[in-house]
Amino acid sequence: MTQLPPMPNPKSNPLKIMNIQLILPVLLTAAGAVVAQAQTVVSSGHVDLGIAYESGSWDLHVHQEEPVEAEYEPGEAILQVGAAAQTAIPANPSFSFLGNAGDPIWILPKSANPELLFLGIGAEELDPADWTGNLTLSLETVAGPGRFAIWDTDLFGNPLIRMNSGDGIDASDNLEVIPGSHAHFFYGFTAPGDYSVTFEASGMFQGLSTASGPVTYQFAVVPEPGTGALLLLGLGGLAVAGWRRRGKRS
Ligand SMILES: [Zn+2]
Repeated sequence: MTQLPPMPNPKSNPLKIMNIQLILPVLLTAAGAVVAQAQTVVSSGHVDLGIAYESGSWDLHVHQEEPVEAEYEPGEAILQVGAAAQTAIPANPSFSFLGNAGDPIWILPKSANPELLFLGIGAEELDPADWTGNLTLSLETVAGPGRFAIWDTDLFGNPLIRMNSGDGIDASDNLEVIPGSHAHFFYGFTAPGDYSVTFEASGMFQGLSTASGPVTYQFAVVPEPGTGALLLLGLGGLAVAGWRRRGKRS
């Protein structure tokens, strides 16, 4: 930062443009879908990991339904798991795949909570007539400070584990995606910090087996607010985007 002039002209300071001048107008002036150019923190609203397939190419992306409709490449969005996601691993032994009962865990829930990202997996853009059977979304790798898991629950609230990095990652770490459908799950993280989670989608398109190859999504798990910077989360995470970026460059 020392090479910058004392009174930075926004046009000569990409960092400033991105944090304040650029992201905010782009998101707020959009009449329809917006394709964002920079990395954006997505911290609330209904958002889906979108799975599309067009002209022989997979398109895994991030589709934000609310509060503004927007679409991001996986690397353009940081999916934030806010402080309100923090809870404790339940005493029910069927949750021991997450760790020890009572230990902290950050969970994005299957049902909407206005304080948190409401994250689903959307395949509405796929025409079921093109596909034989269901797609498979497989967990490939997880890089981060803790475990990552996706699960559903049965009628009694017991977890139906779909993916869990805590016991290693193998072919069992996958979930079925019905072409044309949209579903929500629980997402768990056992420590705060940044995670890179890589998936691969595969299926049988018009009789031919096809796979997307690895696609990496970014998650940021936020601890309990303890600093002034985190109090700005109410601005939709934009201030935190700036805070994170400065932190990464220091
Ligand atoms: Zn959804």
